[in-house]
Amino acid sequence: MPSERIVTRRVTTPDALQRAADEPAAEVFDKLSVYHHEQVSYWFDPECGYRGIIAIHNTALGPALGGTRFWHYDTDDDALRDVLRLARGMTYKAAMAGLDLGGGKSVVIGDHCTKKREAIFRAHGRHVESLAGRYITAEDVGTSPSDMEWVRKETSHVFGLVGGFGDPSPVTAFGTFRGMQACAKVRYGSDSLTGKTVAVQGVGHVGYYLCKHLHEEGAKLIVTDIDDDKVKRVVDEFGAASVAPDEIHGVAADVFAPCALGAVINDDTLKVLKVSIVAGAANNQLHRERHGDALNEMGITYAPDYVINSGGLINVNAEIEGWNLEWAHDKAGEIYDTILRVLAIAGEQKIPSYRAADHLAEQRVSQAERSRGLPHRI
Ligand code: NAD
Repeated sequence: MPSERIVTRRVTTPDALQRAADEPAAEVFDKLSVYHHEQVSYWFDPECGYRGIIAIHNTALGPALGGTRFWHYDTDDDALRDVLRLARGMTYKAAMAGLDLGGGKSVVIGDHCTKKREAIFRAHGRHVESLAGRYITAEDVGTSPSDMEWVRKETSHVFGLVGGFGDPSPVTAFGTFRGMQACAKVRYGSDSLTGKTVAVQGVGHVGYYLCKHLHEEGAKLIVTDIDDDKVKRVVDEFGAASVAPDEIHGVAADVFAPCALGAVINDDTLKVLKVSIVAGAANNQLHRERHGDALNEMGITYAPDYVINSGGLINVNAEIEGWNLEWAHDKAGEIYDTILRVLAIAGEQKIPSYRAADHLAEQRVSQAERSRGLPHRI
C-alpha cells in the first residue's frame, strides 16, 4: 500500500481538548471553540415541554446529518456536552465513509417513554425546519421511525421513516465483517477468517448479523449478551459457544468484536484482553483516547469504531439519495479498503490507528473547506 502524507494541526493532546470540552464551568462559546463547532440551536416549546438542542459540527462536505437522541439528562449542560460530542463524531464518520455529508446531532431532553410523542416530535420538526436544510435528522437512541413521521409533518429534512430503508443493522454488520477481514489481512497476511475465533460482545441487531457472516465464513464464535434468549439464538443457529458477560474480554480468541456498549476498551479490560484484533460495531469503544494508544503499544490491531461501523450512516445516505439497498451494501463493502488504508498509514507513521483515521477525516474535510473557500475549522 503506497504511503500517504497526513498532517495533523492539533497543538495539544486530544485528551486535554476533551477535558476542556467537558469542563462544566466553560461558557457555551468556549465549548464550541474546543472542536470548532459551527452552530448550536436551542428550541423551547412551553406548551408540550419540548426542550431540544441541535448541534452542527461541520458542513464543509454537505448538510449535517445525525440522529435525534431522546434522553433524560441530569442537567442542560450534560445534554449540551453530549450533543456536541456526538455531532463531531458524525463529521468524522461521514468523512471516512466517503459521503458528502457533514456532522450534526440533536438531543431532546426528557422522558423518552412519554406518550406525548406527537407534540414533542412536531416541535422538534419545527426546530429542524428552522435550520433550512443545514441539518438532517433520523432516529437514534430513544426515538423510532414513527417518531420521525411526526417530525416529517413539520419538515422534509428527516429520514429513517416508517416504510423507509428500515433497520440499518444488516448493512452495519456487513461493513463490520469486511472491516474485520481487512484487519485479518494486515495481521495474518490473508483476509480469511476461516478457523479464527471471534469473541462477540452483544448479539443484538448488529451482533446477530455479524455472527451470521462469521459463521458462513467458517469462524469459531464465542458470544455473550445480557439477554439469554439472544445468546440462545446464536448458539442454536451458528453453533457458538457462550460465556458470561463479564468474561468476554478475557477469553482466548483472535478477534474481540464489541457490539454492545461504548467504553469497553478501558483500564480494566486492557489488563485481560488476549486477542490480536479489536474490530466491532459499538460506538465509542475507547474509554479515553489513551486507551487507543495502549492498544497500539500492546500490538493489538484496532479498527477505529466510526470507520468500521459506518454502514448505518451509509444506509441512511442511500435513503436520502434515493439509491437502493444494493448500493448501500456495496458501499459498506468499501469499508474493507478504508480500514486497509487507515492501518497502512498507522503502520508507516507509527501512530495508533484511531489517530490515522482522525487525520484522514480531517484532511478530507479541510480539502472541502479549501475548495469551497470556507474558513478553516477542522
Ligand atoms: P442492540 O441494542 O440491538 O444490541 C446490543 C446488544 O448488547 C443487546 O442484545 C444487549 O442486550 C446487549 N448488551 C447490553 N449490555 C451488555 C453487556 N454488558 N454485555 C453483553 N451484552 C450487552 O444494538 P445494535 O443496533 O445491535 O447496536 C450495537 C452497537 O453498535 C451499539 O453500540 C450501537 O451504537 C452500534 N451501532 C449500531 C448501528 C446499527 O446499524 N444498528 C450502526 C452503528 C453503530
